[in-house]
Order: sequence, then C-alpha cells, then structure tokens
Amino acid sequence: MRITCITVYQVDLPLEHPYWLSGGRLKFEVLDATFVRIDTDEGLVGWGEGTPWGHTYVPAHGPGIRAGIQTMAPFVMGLDPRCVLDVERAMDRALPGHLYAKSPIDMACWDIAGQAAGLPIADLMGGGSRTPRPIASSVGAKSVEETRDMIERYRARGYIAHSVKIGGDVARDIARIRDVESLRRDGEIVLYDVNRGWTRAQALQVMSATQDLQVMFEQPCETLDDIAAIAGKHAAPVSVDETLVTLQDATRIARDGIAEIFGIKLNRVGGLTKAARMRDVALAHGIDMFVMATGGSVLADTEALHLAATIPDANCHAVWACQDMITAEIAGGRGPRNIDGHLHLPEEPGLGVHPDEDALGDPVAVYR
Ligand code: MG
Repeated sequence: MRITCITVYQVDLPLEHPYWLSGGRLKFEVLDATFVRIDTDEGLVGWGEGTPWGHTYVPAHGPGIRAGIQTMAPFVMGLDPRCVLDVERAMDRALPGHLYAKSPIDMACWDIAGQAAGLPIADLMGGGSRTPRPIASSVGAKSVEETRDMIERYRARGYIAHSVKIGGDVARDIARIRDVESLRRDGEIVLYDVNRGWTRAQALQVMSATQDLQVMFEQPCETLDDIAAIAGKHAAPVSVDETLVTLQDATRIARDGIAEIFGIKLNRVGGLTKAARMRDVALAHGIDMFVMATGGSVLADTEALHLAATIPDANCHAVWACQDMITAEIAGGRGPRNIDGHLHLPEEPGLGVHPDEDALGDPVAVYR
C-alpha cells in the first residue's frame, strides 16, 4: 500500500467561551486547526488533525503545521502508511524537530493501518482498555466564585475530573485551591494546572501552604530545570505537561525523579508513534499519565483516547478533550462524545471517526 495523495484543510474552531490561561495572562478565542486526508493506492483513506492551543501556549504554530507538511510531503509520498516507523523516520529526516507538524500525518497513517488490519488503533497498538476514560474539564483562571460555578457546570454534565488553571497571584491561588478542595466530592480527580505561571519561589510558597491537602500540580514552573530544582523541597505530586516534548525529556524526568505524572499531549509530542514510547518510559518508572488532545475537534480527542486506552486503567488518570469547548462541528456528531463525563473507545477500525469534508471547506493544499 502506498500514500498517493495528501490533502490539507484549514478550519477555524471558535471556542464557546473566551479562555484565559493560568494567571489570566493569555486569552484564547479561536483555534487554528489543520486537517489532513491521506489517500492510498488501495482506496483506504486516513484522517489526521493538528490543532495547537493557539500559538502563544507552546512552540506550535497552526500555519507552521501546514508549512511543515509542504516540506515533508515529498518525503512521505509513496511510503506504506501502515509502516508508521518508516513514515516517522522520513518526516524526521525531512524536518528535524517541529513535532507538532508531524502529528497529523502520523495520526492519518495509524488510521489507515487500523482500517487495513480491521482493528481500532488502540488494539493495533497492542490492546485497548474498554474502561471509559474520564474527561478532564478545563476550568479557566478566574476568581474563587467563578471557579466554583464553572466546576458546578461541568459536574452537571457528568465530569468527575477537573483541570483547574491557577498560577497568577499566590494568595488567590491558595484561596482557590482551598475552596475547590473544601467542595471536592469523593472520587473526583482535580489537577491544579499552573501552565508555567510560577517562579520557583512562588511554587514553593503555594505548595507549602497547601501541603495538608495533598493536591496535584501540573507544570508549576517554566522549565524542567525549575521543576527539578524544587522537586526535593515539597511533597506534592507534580505532572509535567508543556516541557514534556521529546523522548529525551521523558527519560530525564523519569531518571531524575522530576515528576510523578506525565501530561502527554499528542500534537505537542508528535503523534501516537512518539507518544507510545513516552507511555512506556512512564510505565517502566511508576509514573502515571494524563493523555490530552492539544485542542481541536473530536478527531484530536479520539486520537488521545486511543493512546489512553493502551495505558492500564490504574495508571491513566483522565483524558482531556476539547470537544465541549468549541462551537464548530466537523463530524456531524459522530465519534466518541461526552457521555456522563467519559469517553468510550470506538469499535470501528482505525481512528473510528472521519470528518465531513463539506464542513472543512476547500483544501488549502493538495500534494500528489
Ligand atoms: Mg496542562
């Protein structure tokens, strides 16, 4: 089987509500999504998506995905999409780095490989758990009262996992954590996501002031060096998200004991092929995981769900899905959707959901 054509679409995905990153320092209203259709000489068609969370969140750029695909397309054309390692190596040779540009092609290849094998991607990767995965909400950086209201709204939709964005004013962060914890229900998973918003000193201030609560923090500081520097000075479990990009990051975090949890975002790390290695490093070192879409439509959510399903239930805290935050619908309601705050693995071969091409508009590029 050979790749014969790569078709690229650009779609704006508006967020239902403007979203402020931790500290209120960045506002997001529309996500720049790239959808990729890969055609093969045997008639199978695979779909991928790359939707960064804006271009100010991490080094990932919507237009950069499309430019990257233009550069890489000649190198992957003609390859067998079922041989995902061949495709991965061809992309890495053609364009070192730029992992976010590679993930939609990787995803489309896994979609085709699954269809060819007659298996959902998770099963093709070695076996997918059918235990529904809790979806983590995204509770923007707001006041104590707004935080409380937003969590209530998610609870009404069945959510039991929440990613509460903190990382602004230290006193307000402590107040918000204390308030959320005072109202936390049995079985609820709450991750306090700092999104790099604290200095080392601020991180230690909040962590020591909330030590009695034993809460989880995500990406407390800007760099892995910062998180490593405070690791021995607090007792809180830490998840690394934005600075877990490469396999070398994963092995360093594991070896040096920098974090207890990996936050794996598929687009940031370059797709399922690369993310599967991070999963294995995590499992080999007693590190649990959150698996996340970086943003985007039900396609990106479904990709994250497939990886999450290959993690033992006990080691996968939740998935983060973006579908409840965007107003655009590109798949006619198909694919895994929020059911009581959980996503269920699709049983169809491959990814399990394809977009309506009518909803994507005209292609912005076609490579043959
Ligand atoms: Mg995060």
